[in-house]
Amino acid sequence: MGKKELKFNSKAIHGGQQPDAAYGAVMPPIYQTSTYAQPTPGGHKGYEYSRGANPTRTALENAVASLENGKFGMAFGSGMAAIDGVMKLLEPGDEVICTSDLYGGSYRLFKGIYEKFGIKFRFSEMVDMDELSSHINAKTKLIWVETPTNPLMNIVDIKAVSEITEANKLLLAVDNTFATPYLQRPLELGADIVMHSATKYLAGHSDVVVGALVVNEKTLADRLYFIQKSSGAICGPMDSFLTLRGIKTLHVRMQRHCENGELVANYLENHPKIDTVYWPGFEHHPQHKVAKAQMSGFGGMISFVPKGGKYEDAIQIVEKLRIFTLAESLGGVESLVGHPASMSHGSIPKEEREKKGVVDALIRLSVGIEDVEDLIADLEQALK
Ligand code: PLP
Repeated sequence: MGKKELKFNSKAIHGGQQPDAAYGAVMPPIYQTSTYAQPTPGGHKGYEYSRGANPTRTALENAVASLENGKFGMAFGSGMAAIDGVMKLLEPGDEVICTSDLYGGSYRLFKGIYEKFGIKFRFSEMVDMDELSSHINAKTKLIWVETPTNPLMNIVDIKAVSEITEANKLLLAVDNTFATPYLQRPLELGADIVMHSATKYLAGHSDVVVGALVVNEKTLADRLYFIQKSSGAICGPMDSFLTLRGIKTLHVRMQRHCENGELVANYLENHPKIDTVYWPGFEHHPQHKVAKAQMSGFGGMISFVPKGGKYEDAIQIVEKLRIFTLAESLGGVESLVGHPASMSHGSIPKEEREKKGVVDALIRLSVGIEDVEDLIADLEQALK
């Protein structure tokens, strides 16, 4: 059986990889080199200079592409560098439509940097497809989707948006950081580009900052490889190795993140001191049906607002948690808690942030893979 036909869990371990040609090393060696000896000018074994390509990075790029069921992968020095690479496909005057509930760093890159270069960003909840279509004009080139969204766990119907991008000849890019290819594969739903902050679930151990893109179309891949090589925001060999090692347990980690996530979400939902819990697995979640159709599970990301919606209460809770560590980021084996208004989404102006629902009392959990009884006991003592 060729590796292309392997099922997902086997692909997490073997996808896009083979033992190293030199000595048969089962794990791709860390090719910690900037350059490669050439017997004659231009005569090389596929690697000339590590900004262009590096064998450890290639192994990671192939593995991520294999998991997303895509043909071409690119690994970057961070998720933001990967998003930056996509934005460099655009030209001054072009317009982008983005999900309105967006990771704060993406918002900062779009509004703080690319707007300066003449690119216009419009925002849509992407729940009503007619409303989304109303933003399209002759200048629109790209639709940027985040689903589930960070931090409100809204769900965008990727297939429905892809019908719009196809009809209007636009590119569709999906930030698949929260779901991972274990739960959702946007290319299979009609997306042109999948993006990852591999820092999170893909690498899974909170020890690297890495980004990735996966595409199926050769011309688009060539344009992105050109940008990657020209701008140089590449993933180094050591981080490529660590991310690859993390990916080998993605499926077992994700399974536990989903199990723990469901138990924690239900615990919070039934807690008298909590008002709203955001988690796409609830039947009452407004886009639950879409989530069920396009995802194979609901993940371990949960946001909630304590009863009364007071900022002071939220701060007390995050400070009292012991196993949930108060820290930026998500998707590692350990449970983390964040306060989006002052942390991950602090770069969005308050008025704009609150309009989207990212209120000062919102708390975000990245539920890890510890014993769930310990996680719930930790929440219980903090909520007292
Ligand atoms: N996209 C999402 C959904 C994120 O949560 C993040 C980081 O938190 C990023 C992109 C940016 O990735 P990185 O921090 O690896 O640059």
